[in-house]
Amino acid sequence: MQKRDYYEVLGVEKGVDEQELKKAYRKLAKKYHPDLNPNDDEAEKNFKEVSEAYEVLSDKEKRAQYDRFGHEGMNQGGYSGYSGGFGDFGDIFGDIFGDMFGGFGGGSRQKKRGPVRGDDIQVGVRITFREAAFGVKKEITIKRDESCETCDGTGAKPGTSKKTCPTCHGTGEVQQVQRTPFGQMMRVGVCPTCKGAGEIIDDPCGKCHGSGKVKKSKTFSVNIPAGVDTGSYIPMRGEGELGEKGGPRGDLYVYIEVEKDSLFERDGDDLRCEIPVSFTQLALGADIEIPTLDGKIKYKIEPGTQTGTVFRFKGKGIKSLRTGREGNLYVKVKVEIPRKLSDRERELLEELSAEFGEETSHGKKGLFDKIKDKFSE
Ligand SMILES: [Zn+2]
Ligand SMILES: [Zn+2]
Repeated sequence: MQKRDYYEVLGVEKGVDEQELKKAYRKLAKKYHPDLNPNDDEAEKNFKEVSEAYEVLSDKEKRAQYDRFGHEGMNQGGYSGYSGGFGDFGDIFGDIFGDMFGGFGGGSRQKKRGPVRGDDIQVGVRITFREAAFGVKKEITIKRDESCETCDGTGAKPGTSKKTCPTCHGTGEVQQVQRTPFGQMMRVGVCPTCKGAGEIIDDPCGKCHGSGKVKKSKTFSVNIPAGVDTGSYIPMRGEGELGEKGGPRGDLYVYIEVEKDSLFERDGDDLRCEIPVSFTQLALGADIEIPTLDGKIKYKIEPGTQTGTVFRFKGKGIKSLRTGREGNLYVKVKVEIPRKLSDRERELLEELSAEFGEETSHGKKGLFDKIKDKFSE
């Protein structure tokens, strides 16, 4: 299948700026996010497509490469492929998860002069069905602010220091008198000189340009316990963004997304699966193999078992994250009809059918043949 143009995927023009690009991506990512579209393969596909497009176009270098060489250029060391996790998309997913879960601080925080706790960071990690069932250790890399080493986080060039803002005298606010038809009105606004910080830096640090912070990658090893499901999250206290003015770091939330399994379907802590059996196995009884998360087990089906019968295997489900108790496995047997028969098989089945006194399209004439005969008379 031909890959769609990344600009087309995000529904933007080629010259789109960063803001517009982010906006377009946010809208689509939210629309197709797997958590909002459970069991929807189409949405999942779209979600991956827009994420991949955004990962490339939001990166200046990758975008330039893509603009010049198209998808071809991406395969030569440029684009590494959508890894499944959200990685550096943290801040955007933070917004999305914020909307979805009612938000965890962050966002439009009011300027305060005292210590302010740092923002929370949300990252997503995708794990396999089995990893969710048994637990797994995952490495997660995020980009977050670290205190600038050059200026020791002050934002001022080494050897210099911040000074109190002369306009607001450190309050970060200015009072303005406005003349109105009703007389004079007093308004309090953010100080235009220090933008509310209360301090100014004459000589900003060259490394962090006065912010006192630099973005750095940080890798965490996260223990994901057995029993998690899509939407579960692991809070890591004090590992979020740097606080302001000596405030503590925010928290880091690692959101789990569990891939589907080809065999098992999850229903809380229970598992369900369907296994194909033949008519004769059900009619005569048989020893069949039942797949479980930790290997196959043998099971005897009684003669005369009906198709659609569900067998329960206690404790063969998923270990509950809350109680530690294992769920059950429910296995449904379903008759599978052979698509092709050997001559010998057909012969035997016809004989059996005749024994049952059935009407089929062979031997005795079936309903369809009878109708056909009627019209050809
Ligand atoms: Zn600095
Ligand atoms: Zn000021």
